[in-house]
Amino acid sequence: MAQLSDDCFAFGGPMLSVDEAVGIITSRVTPILEMERVALTEADGRILARDVAAPLPLPPFTNSAVDGYAVPGRELPRETEQAFPVEGRVQAGIMGAASRPGHAVRIFTGAPMPEGVDTVFMQEDVRIDEAGRVVLPAGLKRGANVRPAGEDIPVGTVALKAGQRLRPQDVALAAAFGLTQLDVVRRIKVAVFSTGDELASPGETRTAAQLFDSNRFMLMAMLKRLGCEVSDLGILRDAREPLAKALKDVAGGHDLILTTGGVSTGEEDHVKAGVESVGSLVLWRMAIKPGRPVAMGIIGGTPFIGLPGNPVASFVTFVHVVRPTVLALAGATPAPPVAIPVRAAFTYKKRSGRREYVRVTLRRADDGALEAVKFPREGAGLLSSLVDTDGLVELGEDITSVEPGARVGFLGYANLL
Ligand code: AMP
Ligand code: MG
Repeated sequence: MAQLSDDCFAFGGPMLSVDEAVGIITSRVTPILEMERVALTEADGRILARDVAAPLPLPPFTNSAVDGYAVPGRELPRETEQAFPVEGRVQAGIMGAASRPGHAVRIFTGAPMPEGVDTVFMQEDVRIDEAGRVVLPAGLKRGANVRPAGEDIPVGTVALKAGQRLRPQDVALAAAFGLTQLDVVRRIKVAVFSTGDELASPGETRTAAQLFDSNRFMLMAMLKRLGCEVSDLGILRDAREPLAKALKDVAGGHDLILTTGGVSTGEEDHVKAGVESVGSLVLWRMAIKPGRPVAMGIIGGTPFIGLPGNPVASFVTFVHVVRPTVLALAGATPAPPVAIPVRAAFTYKKRSGRREYVRVTLRRADDGALEAVKFPREGAGLLSSLVDTDGLVELGEDITSVEPGARVGFLGYANLL
């Protein structure tokens, strides 16, 4: 399991900025080195464990990019059109015979270029004369409409890099190389608990003072999108000892322990004390809204993250703390999501020194610009504010206000998960 040295959280005291907090955790997490070999059909979303160098050039042979007629470059008509007798026919999947000088070869898209020709006229650009010859216009450049071997990827090039998260197009590239399997980092094992006496699991009886646990299902879905193997450990009640014991029991079998709720400083917030009794914890009061507080620590060498209970705070801190931690555990190297500049269609006031995320919907303004419309209410408990919006506008630590028309950075949910 992942090992984390205790000193890596020796940053108590003042509130950490999001970047400081994430920088500390991601630089100190020990990546999982175990890998497994998976079939290409199972590779999407996984973290590649080894570089893949091209075992063959792509395309593997020089071929025609169009349906048409192939001729030698030195015989191309220069000033006026010219008729060539047609000899030979090469279709995709067949190796044609060498072409004779003074002749054109009928050729189709994807067919290997026969020896002796290096330029292809598109069939739309030529005509056939009464004698059955093909009449080629003047002015075509030598090498036109041909895809040289290796033009896409030369043999030996490192085309996929260890640490990258495989996408469908990456899987396609491995297939184009003729590979059937890829070495990927084994799935990061994450234990997930909700905490709170007020929670009932969907399917259970709910008392009048209870609500159904929604965070656990959101977090598990987000973890699965990150390729994790998730242990659903249900709901922990608001009592320190059983909570602490449950956390300790799962430490050995997981790479990360994740909880939601119970990390504030209220009397019924037992996560902090519970973690301290079985491991070590620095309450990471991160300067993030919605979000603060987020607890982080180590239990039996396994990293622990305690997210807040309010659904929106839980969502936002997952994206900004858990996601980079999981990626660091997997040795993954994706660049952080890029905020897209959009125009604010709202007014907003904030404190400096804190990063804030505004839930917004995008719309196209009359002048064509993309505008971010703020969700009308702000509560961190409003699940509808996540369901009915497209993403988050990120307002950096230095910003204190936003006026309509200001340029702001938009992070779409699709890019954050
Ligand atoms: P807490 O962080 O435990 O003080 O919880 C803050 C708020 O979030 C409370 O209103 C809780 O009822 C709510 N909450 C906590 N955990 C969950 C959960 N798993 N699903 C939905 N709401 C939750
Ligand atoms: Mg609670």
